[in-house]
Amino acid sequence: MRLPRSLLVGAGVLLGVSALAYAAVSPVRVFVNGVDLGPAAQGRVIDGQVMVPIRAVAEALGAEVRWEPGESCVYITTKGAAEAPKEAAPAPAKKKEITVYITKTGSKYHRLGCRYLSKSSIPISLEDAKARGYEPCSVCGTVE
Ligand SMILES: [Zn+2]
Repeated sequence: MRLPRSLLVGAGVLLGVSALAYAAVSPVRVFVNGVDLGPAAQGRVIDGQVMVPIRAVAEALGAEVRWEPGESCVYITTKGAAEAPKEAAPAPAKKKEITVYITKTGSKYHRLGCRYLSKSSIPISLEDAKARGYEPCSVCGTVE
């Protein structure tokens, strides 16, 4: 069945008008943490799904957005994810301080609760204890 040309044109115009009218009556405003992102992030309901401009929304959330047209892919990188390797790098350099205990007269360092600490118990970092020539106690074991 062939439709008359005038009818096709008429339908096209009608669709165009209804789509515009629909967009005009139901714009979707996007708020991030209570802040209206404005017209740049305004979305629409299409086929029952809320469609919003991903760049405006993601950037408002502090993320970086990269559009690769060749792949038809949107890459969203959050700041936390981007900084994670940088934060992880210095961590091994900063040694976790381990506290051991020495006595007034002994030459050993001990774990908390060792029976040799009953008379005196002086907290010291493991690093300092080793630097001062203290050795691990044979009773409470090596602290590492
Ligand atoms: Zn000990």
